[in-house]
Amino acid sequence: MSPRAICAYLLIGVLVFALSTQVTIRAEDKASRIIRKNDTNGDGGISRGEWRKSKSKFEKLDSNNDGTLTLEELRRRFAAPARPATATAKQIGGKRAIAHSVKVMPEQVAIENLNDLTICAMTRRKSCSLDVAINRGMSETGIQPKFPDELNCRGIDDTWAMDYSWKRNRPSLHGGIDMPAPFGTPMLAAASGTVVAKFMGERSPRGIQIVLRHGPDETGIPLWIYTMYAHFQSMPELAIGQKVNVGQHLGPTGNSGINPKKGSYTGRRRPAIHFAIYYSTSPDYAIHKGRLIPRDGYWMDPNAFYRGRLPLDTASMKALSDADKQVPIPVVLKDGTKLPGGTKLVWPYGCWRN
Ligand SMILES: [Zn+2]
Repeated sequence: MSPRAICAYLLIGVLVFALSTQVTIRAEDKASRIIRKNDTNGDGGISRGEWRKSKSKFEKLDSNNDGTLTLEELRRRFAAPARPATATAKQIGGKRAIAHSVKVMPEQVAIENLNDLTICAMTRRKSCSLDVAINRGMSETGIQPKFPDELNCRGIDDTWAMDYSWKRNRPSLHGGIDMPAPFGTPMLAAASGTVVAKFMGERSPRGIQIVLRHGPDETGIPLWIYTMYAHFQSMPELAIGQKVNVGQHLGPTGNSGINPKKGSYTGRRRPAIHFAIYYSTSPDYAIHKGRLIPRDGYWMDPNAFYRGRLPLDTASMKALSDADKQVPIPVVLKDGTKLPGGTKLVWPYGCWRN
């Protein structure tokens, strides 16, 4: 090979290398630059107090709503722009994983990929009609939990889709079920699954929350199901992407969450779990303003989940006979025994014998 040919090959090699690394460098630079400019105490993150630009910009960047912007979070934001609807989750996840080696669930998509109807139904933001959420399953079904006769279990006080307008100063329905329990009572994983979201919820009535996602194999139900646990006393020590087993202790019950009329935590809420369930035929979801939103998501009466089979949509639940509306609840005892044995689903609080 002539010296001239070697030179040409070297030049091409350098060019290819430069081009292939350029995208990564640009994405990393922007995130790092933002951290450098705002992180005044040098802890590697940006708190609300350190943030110099608008509050709304902060909220937009703080995708997990924990009040801190981290380098990973910012890189994820700038490295993963809205993807075309034709791209698969695997493609996007693959690109991100190669470029940044940051742990991101491959099914997490940018909010721009979800349609407005879904966002309205699942976030129930002020500009959305409540009817949109009702059309996505948020209304009373009349189904009731039926606990094993010989056991004591923690029952529901605030029921599914009850009128919450008086609590919110606007038309509102309760998006889950509440079971009161003493401070510290462990909340339990209702099925095996993966931790997909954690929210400090400092400005949310739900307070400290986590969301688990359950694949069809984990519940025996051919849907992607999300269980959400709220009002923890402290953030569970679980990482995004971590697997949990059915009945696993998630964290302690508390009364975290603001009083929406007062706009702050009052400490007067009774300790309780707020337990909510969403579902979709797609495994994709977005995280936006302290909410996990499944792609094409629906609300489920949590009692319907414990049927363990289809149908479980709200219209079908309303149509059940009175007898079928009594749903036997599978549970776990405090010694870990499951009833019935081998159940894939359990009530999110343990039961006990007299
Ligand atoms: Zn509640």
